This record gives sequence, C-alpha cells and structure tokens, in this order.
Amino acid sequence: MQRAEEILSSVFGFEGFRPGQAEIVAAVAEGRNTLAIMPTGGGKSLCYQLPALLGDGVTVVISPLIALMRDQVRALRETGVAAGALTSGNTEEETEEVFAALDEGRLKLLYMAPERLASGATLSLLRRIGTARIAVDEAHCVSQWGHDFRPDYLRIGDLRRALDVPLAAFTATADEETRAEIVTRLFDGETPATFLRGFDRPNIHLAFSVKDQPRRQILSFAAARKGQSGIVYCGTRAKTETLAQALREAGHPACHYHGGMEADDRREVEARFQREDGLIVVATVAFGMGIDKPDIRWVAHADLPKSIEAYYQEIGRAGRDGAPAETLTLYGPDDIRLRRAQIDEGIAPADRKAADHARLNALLGLAEATCCRRRRLLSYFGEETEPCGACDLCDAPPELFDGTEAVRKALSAVLRTGESFGTMHLIDVLTGQMTPKVRERGHDALPTFGVGRDRPKAEWQAIFRQMLGHDLLRPDPERQGALRMTEAARPILRAEASITLRRDTIRVPSGPVVRALVSDEDAPLLSALKAKRRALAEAARVPAYVIFPDRTLIEMAERRPATLDDMARVGGVGAKKLESFGLTFLEVITGASDPAPHPARMRLAGRAEGTVLDRLLAIQRDLARGADGTGKFLSCTHNTLARIAEQRPRTRAEMERIGGMGTQKADRFAEAFLAVLQED
Ligand code: ADP
Ligand code: ZN
Repeated sequence: MQRAEEILSSVFGFEGFRPGQAEIVAAVAEGRNTLAIMPTGGGKSLCYQLPALLGDGVTVVISPLIALMRDQVRALRETGVAAGALTSGNTEEETEEVFAALDEGRLKLLYMAPERLASGATLSLLRRIGTARIAVDEAHCVSQWGHDFRPDYLRIGDLRRALDVPLAAFTATADEETRAEIVTRLFDGETPATFLRGFDRPNIHLAFSVKDQPRRQILSFAAARKGQSGIVYCGTRAKTETLAQALREAGHPACHYHGGMEADDRREVEARFQREDGLIVVATVAFGMGIDKPDIRWVAHADLPKSIEAYYQEIGRAGRDGAPAETLTLYGPDDIRLRRAQIDEGIAPADRKAADHARLNALLGLAEATCCRRRRLLSYFGEETEPCGACDLCDAPPELFDGTEAVRKALSAVLRTGESFGTMHLIDVLTGQMTPKVRERGHDALPTFGVGRDRPKAEWQAIFRQMLGHDLLRPDPERQGALRMTEAARPILRAEASITLRRDTIRVPSGPVVRALVSDEDAPLLSALKAKRRALAEAARVPAYVIFPDRTLIEMAERRPATLDDMARVGGVGAKKLESFGLTFLEVITGASDPAPHPARMRLAGRAEGTVLDRLLAIQRDLARGADGTGKFLSCTHNTLARIAEQRPRTRAEMERIGGMGTQKADRFAEAFLAVLQED
C-alpha cells in the first residue's frame, strides 16, 4: 500500500485517500472480486485507476457512456496515465493508436463500451493483451429492475468467466435488490468483497424554501452564483423552456433540456454542459445519466422532486469534485397535491402506491424539518450523524411553536365541512370570512366558524402546508380539490399527541445568502486562475476540469504557492500536471514569469529531495573552481545531482558509483556533498 500512496500523490496529486478508497484499492490490487457502493462523487474511478498502475497487465474498464469514457481517458492522459478507449466514437487513427499501444504493452487502462463485448474478436483481443482485471463502472446497469438497464451489461459475466480474471464492480445505487442482482449477474452469485460507503456528501449545502414567486427565487439564487455551472430541475417540459429564457434574459448562459427534444439537440446540450464553464441547464429529470461533470457548483429544484431518493440523486450531481456546492429545493402546497395525484392516478398496484406515498412523505418530512436537514436525510438512509452545520436549518435554526391547538382547529374544520373542501375555503371558515360560498353552504353556523381569527390567513396557509407535509391531510383522489384527514392525524385530534410546527416558513423569507467559494480577498485571483484554465481548455478542446478541478484552483487562490515546490503540494497537482501547467498558473499567481527550472529539478518538485538538490547545486557553484577559486572548472549535471539527492550515497565510494561522478569530481565535491546528505 505504500506504493499506492506514492502513486496517489505523485501521479494523481492527492494528499490522501477519500473515505473507503484505501480499502477498495487494496482489495482490487490484491486481485479480489470486489463490489464497491459509493455515493456519486465519492471517488470510484480512482479505485480501479490506481490499482491499474500498480501491477502488470491491462485493466479493462466497462462503462456505459461513450462521451464520458472519452473525457475520462483525456483526463487520465493529462495526468500522465497510459489510457485508451475503444468506442464507436473513435476516429480510425485513434483506434489504430490504441491497438499499437496495446501491442507494445504500453497501455494500463483500456476503456470499452459494453456493446463491444458482443463481438467475438473482443474476447481474443482481451486474451492477447494480458487483461489483468475487469472494472465495471455503473454496475447497476446489469439490473433489469433499474431504470438504467443495459442489455449488453449481461455479457460481462461471461467475459469474466472466459478470461478468468478478477472483477471490480462500482455503483452509487445501494438498494438491496440491485446489489443482489449485481452479485448474481457479474459474480455468478458468489459474494465478492463488498464495500458500502456512507451516503454523506458533506460539501453539499442543503436548503429548502417555500415557493413565493418561484421564478424570482430561482433567478436570485442563480444571480448569487453567476458564472458557476448549475442545473435547475423543473416539473414540466414547458417550464424548462420559459425558465431558461428568463435566465438568459437575466444575462446567464442557459439552455433547456427535456425528453421531448430531438436526440441530437439533447446530446448537444450535454456536450456543451460538459465542456463549458458556467452554463446553466434547465431540465426535467431526463437530464441525469449522461452527466459526469465534477464541477457542477449548484443544483436548484424549481419544483418538488418525486421522492427522497430522487432528491438525493439529483442534488448529488453537484460538487463531485469535493469543493463546496449549493442546493435549493422549492416546494409548496401545489407540489404536494400534484405529487400525490401522480401517485394516485398511476397504474401501480395498491401496495406500490402506498410505498410511493411513504417515499414522498419522507421528502416532505425533510422539507418541513425542524432541525438539521442532513441529519434527517441520512437517518432515512440508516446513518446517524451530528447536526451538520451545512444546511439552512443549521445556519439559522427555525423558530418553533406548539401547533397542536391550531392543527386541531384545522382538522375540525375539515371534518365538520364533510372533508369536501380545499385550503382556501377551510381558511375562510377558520378566520370567519363571510364569503358567498360560506353563506351558501351555511358554514357560518358551524362551531368552528371564526375560531382561528387570532391568526392571519398567511399563517393558516403555512399551517395547512405543514399539515400536508406531515401527511395529516391528503388530497382526495376522488374529489378534485378536497382534503381528507389521514389516520396519522387522529391522535392529534383526540389530544393524544402534540405537534411542533415551524414559524419561520410563515414569514416572507429574506434574500438569498451569497456563499462565495473563496474569501473576497482571494476572489479576483480565483477568477484569473479560472480564465487561464478556460483558455487552456479551449485550446486543448477539453472540459475545463480536465486541466484542473475547481478544488485545485480554490486551493491555489488560498495558498498562493510562490514556487513550483509549493505548487506541487497543492491538491490535484501531480507530476505531469505540474510539468504541463505548473509554471503557467504560477505566473498567474505571482504575476511574474520565472525561467523554467531544469526538468530534473521539476521532477523532484515538492519533495525533500528537491531541496537537497538545491543545496548540492549551491555547493557545486561555490566549489566550481575549487575551495580557493583557482582550480579547473568542474561541474556535475542536474541529472547526476538529482540521482545523488535521491539515492543518498553514504560514502565516497558509493557516490562514485553514481553515473556522471568520476574521480576528479569526487575529489572536488564528495566530502561537501556527503555532509549535506548526512545533515538531513
Ligand atoms: P464517482 O464516485 O462519482 O465516480 P469520481 O471518481 O468521478 O467520482 O471522483 C470525483 C472527483 O473526486 C474527481 O474530480 C476526482 O478527481 C476526485 N477525487 C477522487 N479521489 C480523490 C482523492 N483521494 N483526493 C482528492 N480528490 C479525489
Ligand atoms: Zn444541518
């Protein structure tokens, strides 16, 4: 594992493993069959990329989406990893290049679309090149029950059997059924080493807001994050178009996306989003599977998602690079009614409908939560945590009140009017409004008439919304607009239970909190770094994050490395990237252009050996003409000195055995060099 850590830092430029990665890397490297379930953004790719570099042979990666494969391969090459892809998207030259690299044994990672497994030639190719293991990305695609089923994935099990190599499967989908199906189809039912990583995504800030001019709410949320890539999810196709238009009018680059668009148009939006920095896509939930952009900075829901699972998956697309990301989910009584109606009007059997109502309830409970949202979200997934400090309710704890009496009044209004009316009329009855409908029905004669005069209408609206959220009331599927009491409400009505409600959601919310990625002081530098990145990405025709992820630029802006050594210590700056981009970004930070250091020095940047090399060079300069300055000029090359710094000879004899260090030079320098090596 020590070599694994070395490669983690020297090639990938990461300071340490993310939770779970070390164990998975060890299992995969040891050649065990492995199933790893990690949340999106948890860092699954590294768990097969790193083992691929540790041993002999080629790691074959099966991944469902061609565009994403191509991006991954590009990103790996930028990192200095020998990777290639065989997909239908390749040009002929690309394919030939991959075959040549395979024949010469240069390739460590071969990406392949599952469709390719259908061809007999593939098996003989994979035998010939010495396949060390198979890695399966998005392994839940083998599940026929899942929404992402890919028939070609069913061939992977045969491939594993035919090649007789270990297989590592990765997915973010954790439910029992899918997991069992993966084990059956990919591992012939033999349980692999299984790793289930936590669901928490601590860098994603969670927030919900009650709808109140929703378009304005989305526009101001986007305005506070101008220039950052984001997704707005909408409930309807029409809304994606109008909202994208509104965002464009407000000066944002934005486009819409939904299942009703031509396939080509959809692909174009996906490709633009992947490549451009700062594009907003306004979409229905059809926008998802094809998205593997690590630097999505925010996700907003203009309408309430369908269930807590859908919510988790949709917000989870933000911040996969680990840098801070923001989410906002808007909801209101109409969303609740719509979602209930969709379930009730569906064709599913009754028990399925009940389960769907329960999943919606879990989301509504999260929306109406009275303390830490993350805690509530994770507890749904069976994880216990402390309050997170990164959700709207931790930021500003809500004001609570005992709502028992108000709820009982509302329930009694519902019952006494025969469970036949909607919120508006019920509030009129409670607040004692003599409307034509009240008069016509004689509801002014009810004992409940006017018992809620002590609260303004807006407060009652919030109480009814929370009652819907707590599933005390449900829209009647038979009678349009009517609310019915549920069994869950009975204990409150009978005074056997009490209920706490939130007062904050009743008040008009104040403007959005603007959360910057870096402090004001560092913001100008961050935008300069981003501009440099954009220019480089455009020139190389790759997505911006392939150059450096946001997190790396943020760290550069905050730490302001002054030398290449400092630069090498920034997370995400591996040896290859340091060489390709280190100086360019250093120039942006220091404002000066330093002469490029010798490649031998560059190779040691950020390591103790680099400093030793600097000291050897200084000594060599001092002694170039001997201690008295009159001798013949002598010097060793940078490469020789770099070898001395790395190999650390302990005696003059050992030093002389290092290439480029003859007797004459040893006479001059050895003693002084040995002194430096001993000091450290
Ligand atoms: P997923 O699990 O969704 O496939 P990825 O493999 O795409 O996640 O990783 C998400 C992001 O996290 C990538 O930008 C990747 O470079 C970064 N990452 C992965 N492992 C580490 C690590 N140990 N330290 C820092 N960043 C990491
Ligand atoms: Zn919290």
